[in-house]
Amino acid sequence: MERALFEEDHELFREVAQEFNSREIAPHYPTWDSERMIPRQMWTAAGEQGLLGLAVPEEFGGAGMPDYRFRAVLDEEFAKSNHLSAALALHLHDDLVLPHLLAYGSTELKQHWLPAMVSGEKITSIAMTEPGAGSDLRGVRTKAVRDGEDWLVSGQKTFIGNGISGDAALVLARTDGSSGRGSTDSFSLFMVEKLEGYNTGRQLDKMGLKASDTAEIFFDSVRVPAANLVGEVGQGLRYAAEQLPQGRLAIAVASSAVARSVYQATVAYTKDRNAFGERVIDFQNTRFELADVLTEVEVTEAYVDKAMLAFNAGQLDSNSAARVKLWASERAKSITDRCLQLHGGYGYILEYPVAQAFLAVRLLTIFGGTSEIMRDVVGRSIAR
Ligand SMILES: Cc1cc2nc3c(=O)[nH]c(=O)nc-3n(C[C@H](O)[C@H](O)[C@H](O)COP(=O)(O)OP(=O)(O)OC[C@H]3O[C@@H](n4cnc5c(N)ncnc54)[C@H](O)[C@@H]3O)c2cc1C
Repeated sequence: MERALFEEDHELFREVAQEFNSREIAPHYPTWDSERMIPRQMWTAAGEQGLLGLAVPEEFGGAGMPDYRFRAVLDEEFAKSNHLSAALALHLHDDLVLPHLLAYGSTELKQHWLPAMVSGEKITSIAMTEPGAGSDLRGVRTKAVRDGEDWLVSGQKTFIGNGISGDAALVLARTDGSSGRGSTDSFSLFMVEKLEGYNTGRQLDKMGLKASDTAEIFFDSVRVPAANLVGEVGQGLRYAAEQLPQGRLAIAVASSAVARSVYQATVAYTKDRNAFGERVIDFQNTRFELADVLTEVEVTEAYVDKAMLAFNAGQLDSNSAARVKLWASERAKSITDRCLQLHGGYGYILEYPVAQAFLAVRLLTIFGGTSEIMRDVVGRSIAR
């Protein structure tokens, strides 16, 4: 079925995204993968091409295009071509850090950060998770203590994407001096620059998405100017909860796109491959599997597209976003698994896109809230 989501402007933007992808990413991606790092050049090239910070108003250097379909086009193009590390790196910067600054940042904060984020001059991370606090962010122990006009931030974060390549992180820190499990009002958000006391730890060796760097970060009394507090003191967890829909929607978009491309690659592969004197696609099992997969791909696209329109209309609440993230990421996981099986041994070999996709999508049911947390959120609302 044809998707009815995109209009002419989105398709024109898709051509720009495709051209960028084939010029700036495809030739270098294998090197980035083996070096486990995306160079700054990709960011500045993306900035020059006008691909970063699409939703940022023009007064802060952006394109002033909050229509999420443009952002989705970019995400889809990277995901479809298995450049999911690039999709993830941009996702952290554009879908997670940026919306917090746009929604709650002071004019001074926006003037300082947004133009540099749009140009790719500053690469950002989101630093919520800690060794002892992932799903349950009330366990965050990193603290920020007032010191004259500034704040001093101390603590440790882990699993931080763009943690090594980045210049600054949006950090969730405890500001009420409490210990143990904090309350909703215990935490605040700060933009913390990589200055004295901000130390990156080891780069974590992931099973997939190798090119996107993921690291531990240590803050040792990092001095943060009061102007880098995002919004109000004590509102950090509330802000993070309010911005969940975009993060979850983005993961759903990438999940849906990768599922479609893996399906297409598997049709092509099974048409080409022969066994017992027949094409693999001519076995009834293969056709049944592909029939299921195509149906799931289309259902997922329809659901994600509907969520995108709801988001554009300001109507995608975090519960609905949890459902769409749960559905799409679980489908991406099971579809890549089924499609890998249809490749036989070649599906296990990393030069085949299905093997790379299999490793990459494994993150999608974990990152941005695990499937169990999504089910918990949805289940609680049903039981209420
Ligand atoms: C590659 C990668 C990149 C990441 N990037 C970032 C990043 O850039 N910034 C950032 O802040 N974080 C990042 N994360 C962290 C990620 O968001 C967390 O790993 C995730 O939220 C889960 O937290 P956890 O790992 O502490 O698992 P835990 O919270 O310890 O969960 C362990 C298990 O218990 C289950 N569980 C927990 N609570 C419940 C419950 N109430 N009911 C049922 N089951 C439950 C979970 O679903 C999971 O199966 C990244 C993680 C990875 C792996």
